[in-house]
Amino acid sequence: MPNNLPNDFISNLEQIVTDKGLIVEKNEIRPYITERRGRFVGETLCVVKPATTKEVSAVVKLCSDNKVAIVPQGGNTGLVSGGIPFAEDRAIILNLSRMNTIRDLDPINNTMTVEAGCILQTIQDHASKNDRLFPLSLGAEGTCEIGGNIATNAGGINVIRYGNTRALILGLEVVTPTGEIWDGLRSLRKDNTGYDLKQLFIGSEGTLGVITAAVLKLFPSPKEQQTAFLALNSLEDALPLLNMAQSMIGDALTSFELIPRIGIEFSQKHGHRVIDPIEAKHDWYILMEASAGTANSFLPDLFTKYMEKAFEEQWVLDGVLAQNKAQSDSFWLIRENVTLCQKPEGGSIKHDIAVPVSSIPTFIRKANAAVKKLIPGIRPYPFGHVGDGNIHYNLSQPVGMDKQAYLNRWEEVNRVVHDIVIDLNGSISAEHGIGRVKVKENAHYKSSIEIKLMQQVKHSFDPLNIMNPGKLIPSIQPKK
Ligand SMILES: Cc1cc2nc3c(=O)[nH]c(=O)nc-3n(C[C@H](O)[C@H](O)[C@H](O)COP(=O)(O)OP(=O)(O)OC[C@H]3O[C@@H](n4cnc5c(N)ncnc54)[C@H](O)[C@@H]3O)c2cc1C
Repeated sequence: MPNNLPNDFISNLEQIVTDKGLIVEKNEIRPYITERRGRFVGETLCVVKPATTKEVSAVVKLCSDNKVAIVPQGGNTGLVSGGIPFAEDRAIILNLSRMNTIRDLDPINNTMTVEAGCILQTIQDHASKNDRLFPLSLGAEGTCEIGGNIATNAGGINVIRYGNTRALILGLEVVTPTGEIWDGLRSLRKDNTGYDLKQLFIGSEGTLGVITAAVLKLFPSPKEQQTAFLALNSLEDALPLLNMAQSMIGDALTSFELIPRIGIEFSQKHGHRVIDPIEAKHDWYILMEASAGTANSFLPDLFTKYMEKAFEEQWVLDGVLAQNKAQSDSFWLIRENVTLCQKPEGGSIKHDIAVPVSSIPTFIRKANAAVKKLIPGIRPYPFGHVGDGNIHYNLSQPVGMDKQAYLNRWEEVNRVVHDIVIDLNGSISAEHGIGRVKVKENAHYKSSIEIKLMQQVKHSFDPLNIMNPGKLIPSIQPKK
């Protein structure tokens, strides 16, 4: 990276994107360099907001010619500081938000072609208006953008049925680190013509190129939905309950989420308007949902039988089946609040882990014991996508402990938890990615051959190391 930028670098950028697409004022830059939870504030040369793929290409080419680093950014909702540059990067932010056109919806092919800056919720709404479903759904859907979702291979609440973002993408348009445009906007379900390049860009966190557009898979719009809120007899009972749902309800099962009692208590304590649907208190709950593509389907019958069997087996001690959309929404409000209501309880050390579904209770019990031994009084707060083996293992600080003293132990706590995850053949990042925050931790656990292969892929796409340097894998320095 050069120490000094050429004098005309910024004015050349302005010529490409005009003054509408360039931000250089410090105050205006601030939201783009601030991590969502306020944990980090980065540094950038400027924010560039191109309006077309051609503009992206010209910006990337200019950066490549001047060896200036580029950090692609969508809605900046990522939780691992992947979309923010830091001082040592001397990078521009390439924010895709102005590229927000829905280019096409093909109802026969069940596909939609969208630009990278389309907000996820806008895409869901457009699909729904056309009697289709785009099933990717996550807490940040009102702000995150499809380019960011693709770059992070986002998960969410419907993965059990529809898969991660990777399973929802048929084609991509990408600007490579040299500024060339790869038009891979194919809308095919079968295509065996060589390496499936789009898969490399999906989940690459902006380190291999800039995603500018995508072809998305659509599904029939659900016509009937069943939502249940169930109190478990024990954490272990989540497994046979899930297993039975998969055999009785089959493919119609869309969500199977774990909620701990502490989540409901924090929500009620901090004034969130959460109604506990079950009178007695239980340690663990499951929020589950299933949907069918036709009205008057088999689903209500199946669900009733399923609940009867769950009670009979005593896996469930209490439970409510939503009678209408409002009640179903009120169950989902509990799930959404689980993530929001920890903040007032002080410091929270977070993990986003996956283990084989069958190991979830073992993971939670082992991790709880280990962290309680490390920091007496720590309050485990495990929740999330149990149906995918993905637990957000958050840990609230002991009551009365100094918040900063607690947060200073972040890495030490991570190591204890992640050792258990790896022991169980799990992953230290199930959906949020690696970004900048987990680069060292990932390199610690991955074999050197896996890191080396990833570095070789990175180097063959981006020999100058200008695309989001320092993220995802330890950088190898380009040859002088
Ligand atoms: C309340 C809340 C709930 C969340 N729930 C979930 C969840 O359930 N599941 C889940 O997976 N995540 C979740 N997240 C994390 C986050 O929303 C996702 O990672 C999301 O996919 C990021 O999208 P974004 O547009 O905000 O990307 P950004 O944060 O802007 O960027 C994320 C990464 O993608 C890269 N990038 C962005 N756009 C492009 C592009 N066009 N081309 C190339 N690279 C690009 C960036 O460089 C960065 O590395 C949640 C976050 C919040 C705040």
